[in-house]
Amino acid sequence: MAAWLQAQITENYRWHAKLCSLRVELPGFEFTAGQFVRLAIETSEGRMQRAYSLVNAPGDPQLDFLLTPMADGKVSPRLHALQAGDAIWVSQPASGFFTLTEVPDGKVLWLIGTGTGIGPYLSMLATAEPWQRFERVVLVHGVRHAEDLVYPELIQQWQQRYRQQFHYQPVVTRQQVDGALSQRLPQLIQQHQLQDAAGADFDQQSQVMLCGNPDMIKEVRAELEQLGLQKNLRRAPGHITVEQYWN
Ligand SMILES: Cc1cc2nc3c(=O)[nH]c(=O)nc-3n(C[C@H](O)[C@H](O)[C@H](O)COP(=O)(O)OP(=O)(O)OC[C@H]3O[C@@H](n4cnc5c(N)ncnc54)[C@H](O)[C@@H]3O)c2cc1C
Repeated sequence: MAAWLQAQITENYRWHAKLCSLRVELPGFEFTAGQFVRLAIETSEGRMQRAYSLVNAPGDPQLDFLLTPMADGKVSPRLHALQAGDAIWVSQPASGFFTLTEVPDGKVLWLIGTGTGIGPYLSMLATAEPWQRFERVVLVHGVRHAEDLVYPELIQQWQQRYRQQFHYQPVVTRQQVDGALSQRLPQLIQQHQLQDAAGADFDQQSQVMLCGNPDMIKEVRAELEQLGLQKNLRRAPGHITVEQYWN
């Protein structure tokens, strides 16, 4: 049965003024990489909650959430303002099916996320599963500015450890950044630029996960369908598995 665990913020790490990693000590919290929980706070209007993906590896005593405050949002600005020592509620058990257990086998695993949608992939990449099941793993992070390219040290560790197997591709749309592509993801796929940069293709041997912005998901999915890939459903396994952060 769903329950609320009371916890304390241990750190609010600011990547920049509009992006933070909220950290909460909760040893023994069980989940599958890719899942989300609900975070709640007490307000004068009662307890308010929203869904947030777990960024940390399963088994890590500290839960990690990558969060951006929405300008007119009811909950995210309040979460963003929390400081070490502040109280927070975490839903248990974790929820969601955006996990590698739901993804069929293939040769190439594409992990494509925009903004905070990179979070679930960082958790997955910290487990053995993607490295054992796929010959090539491509992490694509679409953002507006270079400062949104979070967790660089963690990603560098995987680049060094899985030199032949792993490709990290930043896509920065509002700035020119060395090593990053700069067009929107659907165009990059249409023009084969993303595939060229990653040294991998989108074909029947690909499994593609899409996370974050619903417009990106819709448009990228349309491009992939043009290439013969299909949505992955439990009753009809395919190639495209999605997690949409809002409607
Ligand atoms: C499964 C799941 C996992 C999620 N994981 C994360 C996460 O890891 N990090 C994170 O920051 N958010 C995540 N979200 C979004 C989060 O749950 C909230 O919707 C978001 O923080 C805004 O909440 P709010 O109360 O401030 O805004 P609200 O008052 O609920 O609404 C503000 C408006 O903004 C839209 N919106 C929500 N998020 C965004 C966004 N990022 N950009 C543009 N518009 C948006 C909403 O649809 C709504 O129209 C996730 C959502 C889902 C469904």
